[in-house]
Amino acid sequence: MGRNVVVIGGGAAGMMAAVQAAWTGAAVVLYEKNDRVGKKILSTGNGRCNFSNEIMGAQFYHGSGIVLLEAVLAEFGVEQSRAFFESLGMRVRSREGYLYPASDQASTVLDLLRYEMRRKNIAVHTGKNVQNLAYKEGKFVVNSEEKYYDAAILCCGGCAAPHTGSDGSGFGLAKRLGHHIVPTVPALTALRCKEKFYKQVAGVRCDARLTLKVDGNTICRERGELQLTDYGLSGIPAFQMSRHVSYALKKKRKVTVTVSFLPDFDEAVCEAFFRARMKDHGDDEMDVFLTGIVNKKISQLLCRLAGIRETERANEISAPAFERLLRLFCEMETVVIGTNGFDKAQVSAGGIDCNEVTKRLMSKKCPGLYFAGEILDIDGLCGGYNLQWAWSSGAAAGRAAALENEETV
Ligand SMILES: Cc1cc2nc3c(=O)[nH]c(=O)nc-3n(C[C@H](O)[C@H](O)[C@H](O)COP(=O)(O)OP(=O)(O)OC[C@H]3O[C@@H](n4cnc5c(N)ncnc54)[C@H](O)[C@@H]3O)c2cc1C
Repeated sequence: MGRNVVVIGGGAAGMMAAVQAAWTGAAVVLYEKNDRVGKKILSTGNGRCNFSNEIMGAQFYHGSGIVLLEAVLAEFGVEQSRAFFESLGMRVRSREGYLYPASDQASTVLDLLRYEMRRKNIAVHTGKNVQNLAYKEGKFVVNSEEKYYDAAILCCGGCAAPHTGSDGSGFGLAKRLGHHIVPTVPALTALRCKEKFYKQVAGVRCDARLTLKVDGNTICRERGELQLTDYGLSGIPAFQMSRHVSYALKKKRKVTVTVSFLPDFDEAVCEAFFRARMKDHGDDEMDVFLTGIVNKKISQLLCRLAGIRETERANEISAPAFERLLRLFCEMETVVIGTNGFDKAQVSAGGIDCNEVTKRLMSKKCPGLYFAGEILDIDGLCGGYNLQWAWSSGAAAGRAAALENEETV
């Protein structure tokens, strides 16, 4: 007779955990507070669901669980996830390593998980907000109901995109069972900046290199398509650094980002480029001189910030003004005062302290309690890494929860 396993949270991690526990022989019940499972999956990858990435490794993740992550990925990584979805019937498409369902529909991923849960007779209870998870004599009780479970898997997600259901309530359940929570902050979200000039360049997209500095010390560099908005910096390179920004601002540190609008050039190449241009086009007015280097709205902005009028002839601007302009092209500094918050964040950094979890994802505080997905203090970069963590940890926790606790420690 299989074990009774309860899964709390019907997101990516919870559904994977439920299927794997059922495949391993458990009788599985899943509680989801929304009126449907997998709401967040539908908005992933702009509705196409970038569910994994062929280039995988610990370097794409942050948090207290990097050793744990490596162990879990080694057992159920990209290949196993791909094979899992293929076995359910999904054709997979790789776009330069970024994996999507070939249908280009996130709903494919959700539908196949739902069908498999139905096929395995997993009892899915939607509209069920779990407010209390009690542990009595080695058994789990949900919301004081008269049913006892041998194992419970908490998959409530973090605090990001609360409109999809993940409002941080899982942390309260874990805390009451003895766990510590690493403070959660918004990650994979846009950066709000102090300067007022952003309105002039809102909507512009360009290739750029961003360097994040906290109290003047370089934390990381990111290159990619920057999206300028009326409040600051968005797009993948801004998203990738946002977890560091969130933690630094929480500690009241000074956060700046320097933007290079000529990411292929270092300072010397940049200077040589402008000097050569001066030779050929020095007689031109600045608006003509700068045309063709970067997006016109950017060159107009940088010109103004350097204190140069667009009607001035290039070879008549002062040496200090020319220096200022060069520096702005190579490293325009902007002061970051916030992020777009949990509402717009794709994930939350922080969560259950992974030092309190075994490599089978069981609680060291409460035997029989397991965790999977974003509820743990592990957050990945953009590119399929967060869903991969949900699949990997969901599979590990589901399989382990279906077995006796002693075998899994
Ligand atoms: C707009 C957007 C785009 C994204 N795009 C990508 C992408 O392309 N690739 C990628 O890898 N990642 C992407 N992510 C991140 C990824 O979706 C998440 O990291 C992943 O879905 C987390 O899965 P999870 O199961 O741990 O948590 P969630 O998906 O948040 O699921 C948690 C579930 O638990 C339920 N729940 C919470 N508390 C309770 C409770 N007390 N009782 C009952 N149920 C509860 C919630 O309603 C929710 O359904 C994106 C995120 C967003 C918001």
